[in-house]
Amino acid sequence: MYCYDCGDVITTENETEEHILLNAIGGKLYSKKIICIECNSKFGSNIDDTLAAQLNPISNLLNIKRDRGVPPNIKGRYKNRDILIEPGGRIKLFRPYLEKDENSFRIETSTEAQARKVLKGLKRNNPEIDIEEQLKNATKSKKYLEAVKVDMEFGGEETRRAICKMALNFYLLNEGSPEDIQHLIPYIKGCEDDAEIFFYYPHTETFYKDEKEILHTLILVGEPQHKHLYVYIELFNEFKMIIFINKNYQGQPIYSSYHYNVVTNEVVEFEEMVKIPFQQLKKYKSKNLDQKVFGVRLRQLFQRIDNITVARRINEITTSSIREMEDKYPRDKHPIITKEMTRFLADRVSKEFVLSFQHRLKF
Ligand SMILES: [Zn+2]
Repeated sequence: MYCYDCGDVITTENETEEHILLNAIGGKLYSKKIICIECNSKFGSNIDDTLAAQLNPISNLLNIKRDRGVPPNIKGRYKNRDILIEPGGRIKLFRPYLEKDENSFRIETSTEAQARKVLKGLKRNNPEIDIEEQLKNATKSKKYLEAVKVDMEFGGEETRRAICKMALNFYLLNEGSPEDIQHLIPYIKGCEDDAEIFFYYPHTETFYKDEKEILHTLILVGEPQHKHLYVYIELFNEFKMIIFINKNYQGQPIYSSYHYNVVTNEVVEFEEMVKIPFQQLKKYKSKNLDQKVFGVRLRQLFQRIDNITVARRINEITTSSIREMEDKYPRDKHPIITKEMTRFLADRVSKEFVLSFQHRLKF
């Protein structure tokens, strides 16, 4: 195998793991036979970082599994408060909030430690404050996925370059020849301004996905009858692009697909080929992202994420409540589940449900 950039033979000496789907968005597909370590370092990671940052709200809400670390928090706003959304959709106040009038004050913080710190600060001018008493009487509330509103952006030069690189990598992974993609390398490196890269948002679904499936999809298509060789990419179902490698393709018909479910962390095999009709491709490919169509698609994606997050939360609640019941009524002493035990369990589950979902609002 040869490095597609410098042409050197790739050996165990100069090999490097090139992620075809970015690991930051949950991608696990990689190859050691595409690019040498030296060339790879020259590409830098800025284009990949830009793409990962644009998709981070999704990676964060889904709590995407990465090889290292977790998705960064997202900043947002909720009822005049700056908030931070942690991976998995947990919300924290961005900073403590303090409201004061002549003879009272109101503090809102995410943790008791923060509240204590704010109280200590207040005590300097108000020595009568009893910190422990205040903390004891504080109201604790727990909320999940409350009216999460995330603004998202997709596209721009760096992102398009990262998507192009992804497509070329997938082509090479499928034993495409490095010679066929040389014309696109200056574009990925930022030396050329444009390439045959398009958003693709047809009016009908390109292929069916299950209600709780969120996939990264790569499809390589070679169609000699239309002289097209392209890669179709879908990230998180809804970020869709087509990258043309050759518009005068005269080789064999090619079809190769890869689908990865980021919710279950599994590669999904599709029995049927995903067909992208030539006429549709011509009609709906576009250099510009139609914000209205994209907005609708994004809302559907958030709805899907919401369903998944709720299902995960219900699972967490039942598992932890059963654990609590078993702590209180150890199995060796309570081999049979009694009415008292089911009542305890029902009570725990319902309390947690109320805490989790009472403030939940729709997107
Ligand atoms: Zn090289």
